[in-house]
Order: sequence, then C-alpha cells, then structure tokens
Amino acid sequence: MPEGDVVWWYARRLRGALAGRILARSDFRVPRFATVDLTGRLVTHVAARGKHLLIRVDGGVTVHTHLRMDGSWRIRTATEPLPTSHRIRLVLANDSWAAIGYQLGVVDVLSTAEEKSVTGHLGPDLLGDDWDQDEAVRRLAAAPARAIGEALLDQRNLAGVGNLYKSEVLFLRGISPWRPVGEISDLGSVVALARRLLDANKDRIGQVTTGVRRRGEQTWVYGRAGQPCRRCQAPVRRAAQGTGGTGGTGGTGGTGGTGGTEADRVTFWCPRCQN
Ligand SMILES: [Zn+2]
Repeated sequence: MPEGDVVWWYARRLRGALAGRILARSDFRVPRFATVDLTGRLVTHVAARGKHLLIRVDGGVTVHTHLRMDGSWRIRTATEPLPTSHRIRLVLANDSWAAIGYQLGVVDVLSTAEEKSVTGHLGPDLLGDDWDQDEAVRRLAAAPARAIGEALLDQRNLAGVGNLYKSEVLFLRGISPWRPVGEISDLGSVVALARRLLDANKDRIGQVTTGVRRRGEQTWVYGRAGQPCRRCQAPVRRAAQGTGGTGGTGGTGGTGGTGGTEADRVTFWCPRCQN
C-alpha cells in the first residue's frame, strides 16, 4: 500500500538518479502523452507532495505521477537493457540511470506553474517542511460527524495517510475507525502519531509500526484480519470503509484512476481494544 512515506522515499531516490542531469530518453506509455518527448532537457527537482510525485523539468514542465494501489518505481543503471513489460508506464533516463515507473495510477504532464491544479487541494503534508498540525486538526474537526477512519484518508484534511497508517494509528490510540471525529478529544495526538510513523519509515523500504521488522510482525492490525490482536487476542477485523472518491488524488489524465474500490478503503481494527 503506497502511502506518503513510500512516495517520499521514491522521490529521494529519483532525485538522486535524475535531478541535475539531462534526460537522454523519455518514454510515456500512456496514450494521452505518448508523443511527449523530454529528451535533452534538464531535470531540476523531484518532489513528493502527500502521495503525489512531481518531477520538474527545465522549461517549466512537470511530470506528475501517482502510485495509486499498485504503482512502483525501479531505478537501474543506464547500461542495463530495459525490461520488456506491459506494466511499464513511464521511462525517464539519462546517461547514468533509468527510472522506470510500473503501473502508475496517474501519469500527467503539465506546466510547473499549474502544479497547484493537482496538489492545491491537499491538506498539510505529513512529511512536508511546511507541515502544520493545527491546520490538519482544524480541517478534520470541520466535519465532526464523519468517521475518523474516513477523515484520515481524505487527502484534503492531511496528505500522506493511506489504509495502513490509518489502521495502525487508530489501533495505537484505541480509537475505533467508525468513531465520529467530533467525539475524539485529542485529534492532535492522532495526527502527531501519524506523522511520527510515516517519518520513521520514510528512509527505507517496508512499513513497520510495531518496531519489529520480521515478516508478519510489522503491523498491529493492518493485513491481519482473523488473526489474534497482539494486545488482547480478539480476532482482528477487516471491512471496507467510506464512500470512496474522497481521496482526492487530483489526477486528471494518464491511465486514469481506479475510483473507490473496496481495496482502496479497507480498514483493520480490533473490536475490543478500539472504541
Ligand atoms: Zn485487541
């Protein structure tokens, strides 16, 4: 499940491979941008905003991508032959490195001046330099009847949380995902914990909230439906939550979005520890 920490990590790796270098190849394998050619242009910066990745290119062009559910990036040396895969959506390469985007949910090319059209709706970025906890709390509190599990996923409230951190944060705070926002006295500590977990995971692959990196022990409830709660032994539950379409990724083109499928908004919780 790609969340803000994963995008942040990819942004850092892509920045290392692409920023400050001239593109020797660009290959957009999405119909809308199939003819775009950025060869010969300098990549100036790679930034993460919430779950959005922005690759800025000389001349005021931004390549905007979003991983959605299954997207990933791989970086190879430029001398390695490019893999043949129908899952590749985008290749950006220079003389040293090739960055290959697989199954990206959104691939967009826009003018850098228009970046706000895809990221302007986002709430405070949990991993941004300009993170603003009070503003995130204010936005959450503005809809007191809404279930907290849904509100945390809405990127207009705060940017970067997906199903994993939503489930884990609410478990750690003992809050049911269905509790209305207005009934939570300390929203500040909820979002502060979300930020701490993302921050702790942003420099590496793998999302760990238990402090244990061993496979199968990395989370409290996420991905553990039917297994005993690590605290009370009650079976962990899993359900779809929310109406979908509230994630507001802002993607406008590319391969198109997946909308609000069940897997997009799944939540895990312990019915005994959380209420
Ligand atoms: Zn429990």
